[in-house]
Amino acid sequence: MIDGQTVNYEQNGKKCITRIICFACNNNCVSCVTNYDKADKEMFLSFEDIKDIIDDFDPETKTIDYNGGEPTMRKDLLKILQYTRMKFPGAHIQLLTNGRMFSYNKYADMFANANLGSFRLFITIYGPNERVHDGITRTPGSFKQTMKGIRNMLDRGFDIEVRVIITKMNYKHFPEIAQFVCGIPGINRIVFIAAKIIGEAYRNRDAVLVGFDEMRDYVNRASEILIGHKGEKEIRLFHFPFCTIDSKYWDMIEGVTVPEVDITFGPECEKCSKRTTCPGIWASYADLRGFGEFRPIS
Ligand code: SF4
Repeated sequence: MIDGQTVNYEQNGKKCITRIICFACNNNCVSCVTNYDKADKEMFLSFEDIKDIIDDFDPETKTIDYNGGEPTMRKDLLKILQYTRMKFPGAHIQLLTNGRMFSYNKYADMFANANLGSFRLFITIYGPNERVHDGITRTPGSFKQTMKGIRNMLDRGFDIEVRVIITKMNYKHFPEIAQFVCGIPGINRIVFIAAKIIGEAYRNRDAVLVGFDEMRDYVNRASEILIGHKGEKEIRLFHFPFCTIDSKYWDMIEGVTVPEVDITFGPECEKCSKRTTCPGIWASYADLRGFGEFRPIS
């Protein structure tokens, strides 16, 4: 069986798994972390292959994340989710999606009627409008469909986390994006994520990679808006080292949620008072930009 993509990690002491189940996608995001060249062999995993992969998951797993590519491109996605639920009745299942397929009422209804139990959708928004979002997805009409997908699934009672991936193409819009996502009724969790520069993002690194120093002011301004909604929404900044934003926003920084191999620290970090709680620096970022922007906190 072909299998090289299941990633095991721990979060708050609980066993978690993240797994790519589909490499096809109806978007063409400039910042996608999928490496299509290496992924060829896994493009067409059958349902039986996926079942075998699920059977191999650690029985103690508490959270299972499925991602891609775009998982909704699989015709058997619901079957996969239902099989997962049957094997892991107590687990929390999460699906990372661009949300576009959920803009179709029939598709949304199918999920609403599937009794998926503890289930959350992670849906990515890149911009506050069509121009910015579709510029990154390189797919005209994707913003409209994603927003309709979000509305459809909220109307059907789904729990949705909006994810905003930060790139050179949208960082100047952060404050606007923060305002926009906080204004979507029914969204109770918002996460801003510093982009990992692998896969397509690496191939397009000139367009995607932005330094923490360059985006600092925009991140601080967006954080000021986000913090204003903290009581009513859960807000997180993923993979922002403490030294890259103002200390008044540090509460929103999330600890390490990825395998440690993806994360690194610079030589100066050893002198930093936040070293043990810092989420660290994407190794893929440090490979390209070095450690010059990370200054120890006394
Ligand atoms: S100096 Fe290093 S350890 Fe300290 S906050 Fe920055 S990246 Fe984290």
